[in-house]
Amino acid sequence: DATQRYALVTGANKGTGFEICRQLASKGVVVVLAARDEKRVIEAREKLKELDNVVFHQLDVVDPASVAAVFEFIKSKFGRLDILVNNAGIRGVEVDGDVSVLQEYIEADNVSFLAGGQAEPFHVKASGKLIETLKGVDECVETNYYGAKRVTEALIPLLQLSHSPRIVNVSSTLGCLVLQPNEWVKRVLSSKGRLTEERVDEVVQQFLNNFCCDKIGHTSNFKEGKLEEKQWPPHLAAYKVLKAALNAYTWLAAQKYPNICINAVCPGFARTDITFNAGPLSEVEAVEAPVKMALLPYGGPSGSFLHRSDALSL
Ligand code: NDP
Repeated sequence: DATQRYALVTGANKGTGFEICRQLASKGVVVVLAARDEKRVIEAREKLKELDNVVFHQLDVVDPASVAAVFEFIKSKFGRLDILVNNAGIRGVEVDGDVSVLQEYIEADNVSFLAGGQAEPFHVKASGKLIETLKGVDECVETNYYGAKRVTEALIPLLQLSHSPRIVNVSSTLGCLVLQPNEWVKRVLSSKGRLTEERVDEVVQQFLNNFCCDKIGHTSNFKEGKLEEKQWPPHLAAYKVLKAALNAYTWLAAQKYPNICINAVCPGFARTDITFNAGPLSEVEAVEAPVKMALLPYGGPSGSFLHRSDALSL
């Protein structure tokens, strides 16, 4: 059916991903709700059983075999893909201390940040602490950046068969370059004329190397290691670096595939598990921007990173 649109949403068993599926499906799009854990796929299916245009599939974005399986599923069932929403993402930090205290600080700091200030968000005080471990950072690299790239590259052939293909990368204001203290990172990621995938990967690998160097060398004291010396962000470094890398990749992918509308969008600060349910927005409100970008008529922006308000004013 040429008028029917088909979408895939990653990391969709809960949070914004689940809500994006629900809203796209309620607008008539046939949606593949994908989640990494089979059990969570079944739970999501149970919650959406009244919508007969949602289908379910396992997808772990870090696992190439799982990505290949979802490609085969969509190819055999629909023959093409019109909308890809790369939503899957993790914080990359563990919590030490009292989460309720942590939540209050996250909320307070982000409100001032989102109100237009450039103060450091997620500045954590008191008893709650966010700890970046090597395992968490490694997973964050694989999920938030390489995961989105892997899924995108695998599904390009199916998107190329659509008459109006689009990709929405769910990114974050925390990926803004203003939050990167390292001038080299800022320069590499902002100089569009000289940007290549290799240069973006180099930033990601440099961060990982510096992080490994600190942790494996047992100088895990943030203040004395490479992370401090090389001026990586002092809080939520992995999350910020990888969302910045995702935004840069979004621009590159849009140049590489000019017939596909590819944008990154921040949903806004929303109450989901990733934020310990802090934040002014509900899930329903948070997905307004990604859903809008997924359904934008052909001819809109491509290669951009849009804040929630930018997307909503299009
Ligand atoms: P949640 O923690 O509620 O959801 C994250 C989703 O990603 C879960 O479904 C999780 O699955 C999934 N996921 C994690 N790793 C993988 C993987 N390897 N393969 C497939 N799925 C995976 O948080 P949100 O809904 O808020 O986050 C969704 C996106 O929105 C993220 O990219 C986040 O960075 C972004 N975002 C969120 C903001 C907010 O304020 N909430 C603000 C800005 C951006 P599982 O349940 O199995 O862990």
